[in-house]
Amino acid sequence: MARVLAPGRLVLATHNPGKVVELAELLGPHGLEVVSAGSLGLPEPEETGDTFIANAELKALAAATASGLPALADDSGLCVDILGGAPGIYSARWAGAAKDFAAAMAKVNTAMGDSGSRGAHFVCALTLAWPDGHVESVEGRCDGRLVWPPRGENGFGYDPMFVMDGKSRTFGEISRDEKEADNHRARAFRQLLPLLPPRK
Ligand code: IMP
Repeated sequence: MARVLAPGRLVLATHNPGKVVELAELLGPHGLEVVSAGSLGLPEPEETGDTFIANAELKALAAATASGLPALADDSGLCVDILGGAPGIYSARWAGAAKDFAAAMAKVNTAMGDSGSRGAHFVCALTLAWPDGHVESVEGRCDGRLVWPPRGENGFGYDPMFVMDGKSRTFGEISRDEKEADNHRARAFRQLLPLLPPRK
């Protein structure tokens, strides 16, 4: 039986302020008071897992055990078919310490070569962890293709080169609302809903 989260405080195991705002908006209506790992002074664990879920679990567990509160973590990335799923869990690292995603996108495009295979998908793993070590994990996926050159200024990361199946514009060209209505993160969130307290 999956464990359901009780209303109360929930730690977001991310040090990314953008993600805290986005997740707090989604979790607020469920009677959850969101606090960030950063504001509690919790350290960021090294992402040593070899899957998205393994990394989401280690981040959520580290925050839950250090804070004594339930915690939510996410791990996401871009998987390119012809690259055997790379950059995958290394998506953030391909941008280097400077977080240069223009360079990371160029690296992906160069590595893909000119075979004509442009298929790719985004993955988002979300893990809820409790201080006693219990975890519940879900994963959402969004299929599409990569274009070159990148298009659009919206979003972040690899958005300007990704076109979701059924769309013609990149994630960099569509609005935040349109992107967030149905992407890998939204799909993962929908699976998490049965584990959250009901909306008020
Ligand atoms: P994380 O914060 O360690 O999970 O790293 C996720 C990385 O994957 C981000 O830095 C982006 O490069 C990439 N990524 C994940 N989701 C998206 C998305 O929705 N759009 C564009 N890039 C994404």
